[in-house]
Amino acid sequence: MEKLDLSKVDLLEFMKNFFKRRFRTDSPLAFVKVFGCQQNEADTEKIKGFLFSVGFKFVDEPFLADFILFNTCAVRHTAENRILSHIGNLKKLKKMNPNVFISVCGCMVEQESILEIIRDKYPYVDFICGAKSVEKFPELLYEKITGQKIFDSNINFPIYQDCKFKSWIPIISGCNNFCSYCIVPYVRGREKSVDYRKILNDCESCVKNGSKIITLLGQNVNSYGFEDVKFSDLLQKIDKIDGDFTLRFMTSHPKDFNENLVDVLSECKHFSGHLHLPVQSGNDRILKLMNRKYKIEQYIEKVKYARKKLANLVVTSDIIVGFPGETEKEFEDTIDLVKKLKFASVFSFVYSPRKGTLAYEMGDSIPHEEKIRRISYLIETQAKISEDVLSDFVGKNLLATVENVSDDVSLARTDSNLLVKIDGKFTPGDRFYVKILKSGRNSLFGAKI
Ligand code: SF4
Repeated sequence: MEKLDLSKVDLLEFMKNFFKRRFRTDSPLAFVKVFGCQQNEADTEKIKGFLFSVGFKFVDEPFLADFILFNTCAVRHTAENRILSHIGNLKKLKKMNPNVFISVCGCMVEQESILEIIRDKYPYVDFICGAKSVEKFPELLYEKITGQKIFDSNINFPIYQDCKFKSWIPIISGCNNFCSYCIVPYVRGREKSVDYRKILNDCESCVKNGSKIITLLGQNVNSYGFEDVKFSDLLQKIDKIDGDFTLRFMTSHPKDFNENLVDVLSECKHFSGHLHLPVQSGNDRILKLMNRKYKIEQYIEKVKYARKKLANLVVTSDIIVGFPGETEKEFEDTIDLVKKLKFASVFSFVYSPRKGTLAYEMGDSIPHEEKIRRISYLIETQAKISEDVLSDFVGKNLLATVENVSDDVSLARTDSNLLVKIDGKFTPGDRFYVKILKSGRNSLFGAKI
């Protein structure tokens, strides 16, 4: 295939002209929908940055758009079915307007079985770009359009942020952990850390541009490493950036979350005070089957140490119920753990078998109704705990950032990620101390100090 001489062809200019001609307008419209995790949100900001740079404006409805893009998730089977049904709904639209350009990106289309389904059932999809290739989205799109390959493109464009005061900064992609239920290492590949100099630059420019909440992203941020810079070193470097912002990170893996990191966090003035530490199960046999590589006692000790060193720490977690072979007693161990550690909130999931993972080979022995019973009980138990945890904050003064405003109430998030309702109309991005006056089931109520 002919190699394109980039000194002669400006990729952004080419794309701008291509879409102008194809859609017969100077301002084509794009509809972009994201499924899944914050990593997908961050990838989408890059893709939207490219689309914006080549002249697109964004709309909220697919039927208004010239260019439709779904950035997909592969973590759960149900999510895949939902996404496929969204793609199916575009058939009519494509029939009415064959010019519309349909793209499907992300983790889901890293799987050969899904690519086959799309080829067979949804042949009107114009362009596919897997999560591992998202950095190369403009070049791959160019290849699709022209049939020509581009090597070593140095194309540059800013990311596009829907929300100016929140920034997602990917620091490590992929995962080496192979938890037995998880498809991520297969669809996103092995761990790859981003150059810490780029991360620092990104953080600095986000703060300069008004970002108040910076979240460092990765499937396992704790295993970050670039040259001799480890995750704790990276946090120390970012913490030195001047400005009024709070620093979050997710997701942490309990096996790598250690006392040294907690000690570093206790010195970081920008640390948000929120720790998301997915435990997944409260039972050692199940954790072993999940290949999580820690025991429940170790997890408890880590949380206790973090709470001792970090005042007002808010700890949240993820739990899977109905893992293959999970007995009633093993499920009760999870309930006991939740009661013992009093998480502020728990994202709970029923086990969903993913073809290609180790757990898939273990079968799916827990009947669906039983999984639903277990998750309902877990949610009910956790709801009471969350209410209790929130009540502990009454009377405290917490720093919060306004996210939404409706009628005369503003919805804000404390730095530690708790939802707080404040009387009065403020502007999204406003940041101030709030006195917590009362607490409810899911949120706090407070007043600006
Ligand atoms: S740490 Fe485990 S659950 Fe998380 S992405 Fe990696 S393999 Fe999946």
